[in-house]
Amino acid sequence: MAKSKYEYVKKFEQNETCLLNCWIVVRIDGRGFHKFTQDHLYEKPNDIRGLSLMNFCAKEVMKQFHDIVISYGQSDEYSFVFSKNTSQFKRRSCKLMSNIVSLFSSSFVFYWKTFFLNDLIYPPQFDGRIILYPSLQNIRDYLSWRQADCHINNLYNTCFWSLVNKGGLSTLDAELKLKGTLAKDKNELLFSEFDVNYNDISPIFRKGNIVIRQKVAEEIMKEKNGESVKVKKEKSDTVILHDDIIGENFWKKFPEILT
Ligand code: ATP
Ligand code: ATP
Ligand code: MG
Ligand code: MG
Ligand code: MG
Ligand code: MG
Repeated sequence: MAKSKYEYVKKFEQNETCLLNCWIVVRIDGRGFHKFTQDHLYEKPNDIRGLSLMNFCAKEVMKQFHDIVISYGQSDEYSFVFSKNTSQFKRRSCKLMSNIVSLFSSSFVFYWKTFFLNDLIYPPQFDGRIILYPSLQNIRDYLSWRQADCHINNLYNTCFWSLVNKGGLSTLDAELKLKGTLAKDKNELLFSEFDVNYNDISPIFRKGNIVIRQKVAEEIMKEKNGESVKVKKEKSDTVILHDDIIGENFWKKFPEILT
């Protein structure tokens, strides 16, 4: 096709590509979800419908992007880790980030009704960023950082909402009461004032959500000598776990994920 005289403007485009041999992390995070979750009547501190919707969207993303080897989600965020040798979009960072963020956002809206009875009252937004990790230690530490964040926030939020919902404190008083407290003080407060053993709280809230691929057995119908028969087949599917990913056990169990 003949080029127009305007074609030169394309030269202004910047096509940054992700450094080779690095794990590529795309992290998305809901914009203003403190307000969004209030406006959409989420249960506090943890609305299971909200988390299930986030997990469903993450699975959808992994269905369409086969080079994502593991994902980790908590609260209004999800991190997608691409294999270090992926050639998806020729490793162009804008393409990777924008396609993930838009697929996640459109899935969030598309599947909203599967999880919530109340309607969306305005369109949600997510931001996205890309981070490259060159070593196994770095990518492990990244995932540990997000899971530690999940724990810290969940312990705080569990205390805060216990004080407000069960203890009858105002949100301001609850905030003041928790100011400067250590993890052990928060555990003690939950136990002595609300008879809650923090470790008994569901791991989905304490540990967050890990999505990996696993082989699952599947039965399909196949034609054989003019008859249709059942045959067993292995297929790869995404599964959600709530395991600890800071310690060694998880990585000993699934050593192939970060290779
Ligand atoms: P920003 O735009 O800077 O990300 P934000 O308001 O989204 O601002 P975050 O730090 O991302 O701030 O925090 C997410 C907020 O959404 C928290 O207040 C968290 O409690 C709330 N939230 C997210 N998911 C849930 C859920 N499943 N149940 C209850 N609250 C949730
Ligand atoms: P890529 O993922 O590389 O962008 P693409 O299939 O989206 O691939 P584009 O070059 O973006 O390719 O072209 C968009 C395509 O969508 C064209 O085939 C165009 O005809 C079609 N399309 C977009 N909007 C309309 C529309 N309103 N009516 C009919 N066809 C449309
Ligand atoms: Mg933020
Ligand atoms: Mg947010
Ligand atoms: Mg967040
Ligand atoms: Mg297009």
